[in-house]
Amino acid sequence: MVPGLIPQKDGSFAISIELPEGKISAEILKALARLAEEGAFVHPTTAQKVMILGLANEETAVKALRDLEEAGARIRKSGKSLQPRTCVGLPWCKLALQETFPLALAIYEAFPQEELPHKFKIGVAGCPACCSWANVLDLGFVGVRGGFKVYLGGKGGYKTKEGLYLTKVETIEEALDLTRRILDLFKARGAKKKRFATVVSKMSPEELAEALRISTT
Ligand code: SF4
Repeated sequence: MVPGLIPQKDGSFAISIELPEGKISAEILKALARLAEEGAFVHPTTAQKVMILGLANEETAVKALRDLEEAGARIRKSGKSLQPRTCVGLPWCKLALQETFPLALAIYEAFPQEELPHKFKIGVAGCPACCSWANVLDLGFVGVRGGFKVYLGGKGGYKTKEGLYLTKVETIEEALDLTRRILDLFKARGAKKKRFATVVSKMSPEELAEALRISTT
């Protein structure tokens, strides 16, 4: 199977485009328009991706893949990359306290191939309104004055759980360093098919701070 093609139950194929920088270029939009005109179903997802569905057969899907790659699209190929979901943040939202896309793109580029026990969702929000649900994801960065508050172990689904407030970071470098330590903690203590919330729920805030080498003073 060509990497990037997603076989569907009905025999058709799908492709997923990742959008860590939070925008779609004119070239990608033109490629999507061509595919839509040819009968594909173009679906913007809640995870800040674009799914191209209904590609009739492998030949059609490979051609679509090549067209999208030529247009500069980032095709989801392994399922191991971590693309945060974000709101628009500064300067686009009048309530925003921080830019969101630079941090989201930095995380996406820093962690392209993570082997984790289970899915791990990251959110970046420009203010505590958390339009990107950053406070109910495995790891959330929530914009405040002077940086981002960091929330851990949240999740949606049948039993929604709010993330635990952990600490505050001031720079993208700090956010990436902390994300590295959090992913390593999940690898060390996580279990197959169990979300990071399970790890967080078994540790006291003091144990978490110690494991992640965060000063609580
Ligand atoms: S989270 Fe805040 S900054 Fe982001 S879109 Fe919502 S209100 Fe605006």
